[in-house]
Amino acid sequence: MTSNTELNAQRPVKASINLKALAANLERVKELAPHSRVISIIKADAYGHGVLPVAKALLESDCFAVARLDEALYLRQNGIEKSIILLEGVLAIEDYRHCHEQQFTPLIHSLEQFQWLLQFLETNPQRRMDYWLKFDTGMHRLGLAEDELKQILDIFAQPNFDWLPAGVMSHFACADELVNSANRKQLTQFNKLCSKLPKMEKSMANSAAILSIPEAHFDWVRPGIMLYGVTPFEASKPARIGLDEQLQPVMTLSSKLIAIKQLQQGDCVGYGSTWCCPEDMSIGVVAIGYGDGYPRHAPSGTPVLIHGIEVPLIGRVSMDMITVDLRSVTATIGDKVVLWGEGLPIEYVSQKAGTIAYELLCQITQRVDFEYE
Ligand SMILES: *Cc1c(COP(=O)(O)O)cnc(C)c1O
Repeated sequence: MTSNTELNAQRPVKASINLKALAANLERVKELAPHSRVISIIKADAYGHGVLPVAKALLESDCFAVARLDEALYLRQNGIEKSIILLEGVLAIEDYRHCHEQQFTPLIHSLEQFQWLLQFLETNPQRRMDYWLKFDTGMHRLGLAEDELKQILDIFAQPNFDWLPAGVMSHFACADELVNSANRKQLTQFNKLCSKLPKMEKSMANSAAILSIPEAHFDWVRPGIMLYGVTPFEASKPARIGLDEQLQPVMTLSSKLIAIKQLQQGDCVGYGSTWCCPEDMSIGVVAIGYGDGYPRHAPSGTPVLIHGIEVPLIGRVSMDMITVDLRSVTATIGDKVVLWGEGLPIEYVSQKAGTIAYELLCQITQRVDFEYE
């Protein structure tokens, strides 16, 4: 896409990324898990924050992880030399060539991936690379089941086999629910599977488990959402929980007021005329909509911030605009409007819109200008 500077055109919607906050959140992870090394999760364009500047701000991590090979290649092509784990592993045997050349660490979550690795090595005996095994301990998405692991262990037991994994990991299904017996069960199953292997590096904890299940920290922790200053927990609890955990919001999404209108009692606003003025009042039009990634499901009452005051969205979210109730604030055209971030936790907005902050962060569109500070 043509950059804003080339166009020399003002774009009202800005995602300001606070790189100091990102680094501070990484420090917080290290405080919480002082005996573990950190795999910073920067998949999906670093949760929508822009993967290169984020990777550079997180160089104090011990390792990075992305979901897919193309994400890892992009990082290497742009000078990131740190170890990178591929959380979905490879899609085909040829991908191992890239893993070897670029020194990526693929995860192996299926017998197929393991067989491919053995075949790759047979034809390319000099091309060893580190790999991790992923166990299914109850989430039933990716990962080797107990009987599949047994087949791999039989191969490990063969006389000349000397190529053990660099580590083993598993993933919690319910760590974001603070009291859920499934977490304990998964941890027990993980320890049981690990006991069948020679001693090796282990990893189990995502953000939620880093914050709430210290026994799951093991050798490597895998923070994602908390690095971006967002609580992993369900926001039905007090929504400022993100702040309680001493995390600092990294992205502030803002735009501008582009119109102010005086309406009469009974006038209705926007598509579907879903919100009507209870009295004569002024409303504001803000240049942001679902075309920028603001959630269309955000209902009337979802807060936005103008001059530090929370004012409610009214009526439906359009592609390029939203309307807000200006009764509680004095505002003029051109004023900045914060949609989430500094002063307005994204957890508020995601909860109102019936989604999670992860999704809001990932769905910002290309029309938005990113600023790194
Ligand atoms: C995305 C991901 C994480 C990070 O999860 P958060 O909830 O964002 O902390 C950790 N581990 C794996 C395997 C993942 O896919």
